[in-house]
Amino acid sequence: MTTYTPMMQQYLAIKSEYEDAFLFYRLGDFYELFFDDAIKASQILEITLTGRDAGTKERIPMCGVPFHSAQGYIETLISKGYKVAICEQTEDPKKAKGVVKREVVQLITPGTIMEGKTIDGKSNHFIACAENLTPNSFAFAYLDVSTGEANTSIVEGGTKTLLQQLIAFNIRELVVTEQLQMLLAEQAGQLGIVLSLETEEMPEEKSAEYINNLPNELKGVGKTLLQYVERTQMRSLTHIQPFTYTETKELLRIDTNSKRNLELLESIRGGDQKGTLLWLLDETVTAMGGRKLKQWLHQPLATRSVIENRLAIVTDLLDEFFVRNELRELLKKVYDLERLAGRVAFGNVGGRDLAQLRESLRQVPAIKAQLIDSGKSTLANLGEKINECADIEELLSKAISDHPPISIKEGDVIREGYNGNLDELRFASRNGKDWIAQLEQKEREVTGIKNLKIGYNRVFGYYIEITKSQIANADLSRYERKQTLANAERYITEELKEKEAIILNAEEQSLALEYDLFVELRERLKAYIPRVQALASEISELDVYMSFAVVSEKYRFVKPTFHEGRALKIIGGRHPVVEKMLNKQMYVPNDCVLPDNQNMMLITGPNMSGKSTYMRQVALIVVLAQMGCYVPADEAVLPITDQIFTRIGAADDLVAGQSTFMVEMLESQHAITNATANSLLLFDEIGRGTSTYDGMALAQSMMEFIHDHIGANTLFSTHYHELTSLEEELERLQNVHVSATEKDGKVVFLHKVRQGAADKSYGVHVAQLAEMPEAIIERARVLLEEFESKSGEAETAAAEPVEDALQLSFFEEEENVGVAEPSLTGAEQEVLERLQKMNIMGTSPIQA
Ligand code: ADP
Repeated sequence: MTTYTPMMQQYLAIKSEYEDAFLFYRLGDFYELFFDDAIKASQILEITLTGRDAGTKERIPMCGVPFHSAQGYIETLISKGYKVAICEQTEDPKKAKGVVKREVVQLITPGTIMEGKTIDGKSNHFIACAENLTPNSFAFAYLDVSTGEANTSIVEGGTKTLLQQLIAFNIRELVVTEQLQMLLAEQAGQLGIVLSLETEEMPEEKSAEYINNLPNELKGVGKTLLQYVERTQMRSLTHIQPFTYTETKELLRIDTNSKRNLELLESIRGGDQKGTLLWLLDETVTAMGGRKLKQWLHQPLATRSVIENRLAIVTDLLDEFFVRNELRELLKKVYDLERLAGRVAFGNVGGRDLAQLRESLRQVPAIKAQLIDSGKSTLANLGEKINECADIEELLSKAISDHPPISIKEGDVIREGYNGNLDELRFASRNGKDWIAQLEQKEREVTGIKNLKIGYNRVFGYYIEITKSQIANADLSRYERKQTLANAERYITEELKEKEAIILNAEEQSLALEYDLFVELRERLKAYIPRVQALASEISELDVYMSFAVVSEKYRFVKPTFHEGRALKIIGGRHPVVEKMLNKQMYVPNDCVLPDNQNMMLITGPNMSGKSTYMRQVALIVVLAQMGCYVPADEAVLPITDQIFTRIGAADDLVAGQSTFMVEMLESQHAITNATANSLLLFDEIGRGTSTYDGMALAQSMMEFIHDHIGANTLFSTHYHELTSLEEELERLQNVHVSATEKDGKVVFLHKVRQGAADKSYGVHVAQLAEMPEAIIERARVLLEEFESKSGEAETAAAEPVEDALQLSFFEEEENVGVAEPSLTGAEQEVLERLQKMNIMGTSPIQA
């Protein structure tokens, strides 16, 4: 080590504390990287790798980025899952003896980055921490460093649920113990989640105020997370709010799979939000409101009184058209108060940010007045709760100029009248500039040179410039020549230099003072952060209520009502997203009536008739209602549902690498073991992933189990027609079917749900719609008749699933394959074998 230059020794000492990060080492106007950091970063960032003398025989690898454009490079590294330690010069190089002092001032990590393209205004950016409570459950804490919001929960169901939780909240970084790190490393790596190790304990008293509200078992994880954030951000973050904890029984719980199946926040196909419930609901006009809406959608409520309060506010907003319009216009002018508060706490708030904060605060009195004067008690209550923060607005109005520049070092941030000294310095500098303008005029007159001008540059300061063609004619004895250009000469005079000293001095001092004043103001504002945050929370809720009102009106939603029982009644219900996506076609509304003594429904009907849409719409109505929003129906009388479980869809399961059927069974198992009598269960085509008998047998036994042991409101869809006879056996089961009719020999889907079981399979007609060759259609018709007559004979035989091969499986034993001829040619045999080996679920229709 001694052979390295002192600077390199300093570098190495600092680097040794940040082994897992790229160390951005400030050298003048650059951040430099050395050794392996340099080699790796030059590849990732596509910048030139050079070398540097470091006292050793060989030059060491180096690369660098200009400090003013570093942000983009930092973001690139972070987005790839790396960490970046920012090491600044912490003393003035001019005053330094020996190597300039340097320190890491911030460790930027994927979970704590606060700025840049990766941060979407309408999304939270959480970092999380998890600790084992029992082998199968975790204490879980997550916080958004940019907004200061901090929450906790208990995650049951092992690492799988934990990872699902991380995906659901789009969490990029998880703080864990070494043991958990080993356990999660592989899967986290695949999901692009960075695992960071816990660090030393934080003193109890420091974290107390943040974790006081938490149950004991969650205090530890809150503290660990706080500790990590403080250690990486290296400043006290006054805007971080106390951790919240909501008891699960107060929430409508929907597991991550079901959220995805129902397309609440993301569509099954992934990608953008189009086609999700969020996409339909998001009429918020502020970024904070957008984030709050997502949170509400993640966690609908299960406490009747709270839900009804929300609904009452929406009702009042709907009643007051003008108030609503006024409020919307006002809200549009409110910036992201939460993130602004975060920047104040973080110490990187700029002049323009403060102008935005001020502009936002200026809307508040009118917002409050609109609410209070609306004449509606719920709105007036909201209004009363709002703290206007008038003193903060006043302070900012006094302190900050109307249009401050982005950089706080350019001046013109602080308003005139805020500070006497600053005004004087500005006056001196401005006065000096007037004086120079007058001097220019005077010199033109004295010399008679009309294009004489006074200019300024950083090297020579102020000068008088005369073009060469004019020089001969003038008396320049008073001037001292300073610089010769191609076609002009530049001069100074004593008088000019004297004034220059005054001007520059005043300007320099005024900029320095302005900066100090700004920093002082910024510090002062820290005390106001909690109030701004409280305001932000109220405004964002208002924005969500407004969004609910807008959506409810736009799509003709109605107010749901709740009761204490289990029965569910939806009249004229619609799937709001499918309805919105339908092009000109009319959406067919459907009822869903589940009386207490008949709360299981078996839905039959051909493919594409609308079974799955019907089931989802029931779930979406329950979700919307428990968020406190109106629902797409003519009437909805609902129970308070505690959990929703779904088993829908298949295509997405292949990604996880598990067999479709296994996933189907896992999800069903999860539902059956966790559901209560107050849950809502949706099973779409259970047993489809296996052979007919297997599938039917499982479907039937699951229905029996739910019927006898759980009692939850359950919707089951199937095209095993045989299951409809279960109605006789299970008293709480009712059959419905989605109808279709034929017109001119073709099937027409009516999407209408009717009482009773479907009487006929329309699969053949669907094939016809798909323009399957006529010969196949004809043959299928003949076969269908045969099968139907066979099943008719068998029907009387047993309650066991009958030998009806409508749902032929490719995996069945050969003797069960009704259509296979007894003696096969070699070629046929080969075809059959290849078909049997085929991955049906992974094959597109065209390939097939
Ligand atoms: P299934 O589950 O029976 O195969 P889906 O629920 O997937 O059928 O519905 C198929 C398509 O039919 C949907 O994508 C939608 O476009 C349309 N659809 C379903 N229900 C309705 C309805 N009530 N009104 C209008 N169109 C509907």
